Amino acid sequence: YGSKTAAPRRPTPPAFPPPRRRSGRAYDATAGTFLHKSLHKAGTYLSAETLKAVAALPTLGLAGTMHARHQKAFGQDQRLVQLFDRYATYNGSDPYQAPATLSLIPHLEHGIGAFYPEGGIYAIASSLHRLGEEFGVKFRFNEPVREIVVAGGHVTAVRTDQDVYDFGLVVSNMDVVPTYRRLLPSQPAPERTLGQPRSSSALIFYWGIAREFAELDVHNIFFSQDYHREFQAIFEQQTVADDVTVYVNVTSKKTPADAPPGHENWFVMVNVPHDQGQDWAALTTKTRAAVLARLHRALGVDVAPLIAAEKTWTPPGIAADTSSFGGALYGSSSNNALAAFLRHPNFSGRLDGLYFCGGSVHPGGGIPLCLLSAKIVAELIG
Ligand SMILES: Cc1cc2nc3c(=O)[nH]c(=O)nc-3n(C[C@H](O)[C@H](O)[C@H](O)COP(=O)(O)OP(=O)(O)OC[C@H]3O[C@@H](n4cnc5c(N)ncnc54)[C@H](O)[C@@H]3O)c2cc1C
Repeated sequence: YGSKTAAPRRPTPPAFPPPRRRSGRAYDATAGTFLHKSLHKAGTYLSAETLKAVAALPTLGLAGTMHARHQKAFGQDQRLVQLFDRYATYNGSDPYQAPATLSLIPHLEHGIGAFYPEGGIYAIASSLHRLGEEFGVKFRFNEPVREIVVAGGHVTAVRTDQDVYDFGLVVSNMDVVPTYRRLLPSQPAPERTLGQPRSSSALIFYWGIAREFAELDVHNIFFSQDYHREFQAIFEQQTVADDVTVYVNVTSKKTPADAPPGHENWFVMVNVPHDQGQDWAALTTKTRAAVLARLHRALGVDVAPLIAAEKTWTPPGIAADTSSFGGALYGSSSNNALAAFLRHPNFSGRLDGLYFCGGSVHPGGGIPLCLLSAKIVAELIG
């Protein structure tokens, strides 16, 4: 980054290497404890690994914000500050509020590396499905659970529209808020935990583009002029700024069969607040125009007439399709230094046999952490 961004008018390249090394060390010292284990079992705190993690806590930057850390490290080039601040959005948070701990996220991408599942992200779900079948798991699709049945402090069954299935163990992968509200309506809910501020959601435009753009790659980010204003709009005003940062993913760059010849499949995403009853029809129209204007500025081409096919996904649509509360992509946000400790545990403290995995519980949202939550539950069940 230093060599790429250092122009003659910037004699000193931005200080990229030291923070990256620091985030790598901090990640190695803490991930095993804070991401791979339940934080709500005494056993987690009784190991040499945990002592190492606790000793590393001061390096995690719980006291300062992510933005302040990046400003200190890269302040001579605001483009780098903006680039590294963006990692807060990887778990739906605000770099101007989130603790500098989140500066560990770039280490995963730059220190460990990014991977591209053949067949797209859906291939991960398909692989888990196949693996489950090999272990004898029976899947029942399109049959939502309507109730987790409880008797005498134990879970005993799940009820669907088709049947009641007896189970002594139930793992809910549904967002923890609707799990309590809809599946366990007569059980006391942990209101403080369920009331934690939500992470951001997204407006997604799926566009089939009738042209190829040689200047685009698989991942493309077009930043807004005023990043702070954009996050204030999302997290303080619960709306969408006029000038937005646009992420464009084009998998046909890597897998040409994903689009017809001469075309590209664009996944165009803008970070927005979770649904709290905003006028999404109006916000979608406004944001679509802002996205087209931003792309026109960057590419020098009016993309609108090239859109051959289009589908839009809004926060209420995400909520309806996945049961994610408010359509938040990553459960509760990490804007608070204690957020990791305020997420719902991977098990119920009141009901025997009830476990939780997915983005709304420990260790948090995003596909890698959701998979870790499943691993934690598997280890708890034994
Ligand atoms: C557009 C978009 C882009 C994203 N980009 C990224 C990214 O680049 N990287 C990343 O790491 N994360 C990304 N995320 C976030 C990531 O997808 C989520 O954090 C993660 O999928 C949450 O996993 P989950 O298991 O909690 O929920 P889900 O993946 O939503 O799975 C929950 C499942 O439970 C099912 N379900 C719900 N209720 C019931 C019920 N009552 N009975 C039976 N089944 C039920 C749902 O149908 C769903 O299949 C993105 C999310 C979106 C929407």
